[in-house]
Amino acid sequence: MSRIYNFSAGPSMLPESVLNRAKEEMLDWQGCGMSVMEMSHRGKEFVSIAEKAEADLRELMTIPDNYRVLFLQGGATSQFAMVPLNLLQGAKKACYINTGAWSTKAIAEASKYTEVLVSASSEAESFTTIPEQNSWLIDSDAAYLHYTSNETIGGVEFQGIPDSKGLTLVSDMSSNILSRAVDVSKFGLIYAGAQKNMGPAGITVVIVRDDLLKGVVASTPSMLDYSLHAKNDSMLNTPPTYSWYLMGLVFGWIKSRGGLAAMEAHNIRKAEKLYGQIDGSGFYSSPVDPRYRSRMNAPFILEDDSLNDKFLKDAKSEGLVALKGHRSFGGMRASIYNAMPEEGVDVLVAFMQEFERLNG
Ligand SMILES: *Cc1c(COP(=O)(O)O)cnc(C)c1O
Repeated sequence: MSRIYNFSAGPSMLPESVLNRAKEEMLDWQGCGMSVMEMSHRGKEFVSIAEKAEADLRELMTIPDNYRVLFLQGGATSQFAMVPLNLLQGAKKACYINTGAWSTKAIAEASKYTEVLVSASSEAESFTTIPEQNSWLIDSDAAYLHYTSNETIGGVEFQGIPDSKGLTLVSDMSSNILSRAVDVSKFGLIYAGAQKNMGPAGITVVIVRDDLLKGVVASTPSMLDYSLHAKNDSMLNTPPTYSWYLMGLVFGWIKSRGGLAAMEAHNIRKAEKLYGQIDGSGFYSSPVDPRYRSRMNAPFILEDDSLNDKFLKDAKSEGLVALKGHRSFGGMRASIYNAMPEEGVDVLVAFMQEFERLNG
């Protein structure tokens, strides 16, 4: 068996030690004689797995006690509707920052439930940057301000937490959660699908301040009501138990690596190497404003795009896969989440240099 370096934007690489642990425990979890997949979600074995995952996430992110952590289904995409349904609480509008494809989707979904004020947009710059904060139009009557902390497709990332001018701050952190330390107390709500940086697909984490768990729109389906999930410890119905377990193993792996500060340092090193290579030649280039380049997803183009197919084919033969850019963007995209080892980036950079030498 040989493992490849998988640069997919999601689902994406998982730490090898996590996969090995899951393999060891597949048939018999810690001597109980069954797989985690076979356990009752209400049995003491699974409840201990679920509680440990939450405790580890709370420790990693220093989540204050007045926040609830919910483990839900439906992906980040369901959150695009759940956020307005639960957080409007009688207000007539919500503010959104539009920095790319995922913000655009969140805005379209929220528009079904409320007036959306797009407080700022980088659409005119083809979503290659983040609008200066002093230009944002924030309406104090809005229920909340929503932004996408990392645009997975465009490769644009907020490098700090924006000032919401007193509005409840909501963030889609699907593709950069746990890649750096964040001050959770600045947020009303954070959500993230697992399959970029936390685990396998099928589970979504929501971190919500407990005073916001009220006033849901009356006709909201139970499955979309945060307060019901909170009241039932995320077991309103059968939760995605195996994804929850694997995500817990990933949290344990991050702790063993030294937590978010260590993860962040690791991610900065990887991103600097990759962008250094992209910028250091006339052969490759990045369209993104250097101030906001994502540490997680690096889109780049070859000056001669007739070489794209050859680049992908040659990369694959070196064990470097899923580098094709998103269909809306073209070119290449290397996603280098927490689980991408630094050697993976080193091998990619060496390949890029060699490809340029042979084809430049
Ligand atoms: C992948 C992604 C989504 C959608 O996630 P699903 O789990 O497929 O619903 C939403 N927002 C961002 C930033 C993403 O990267």
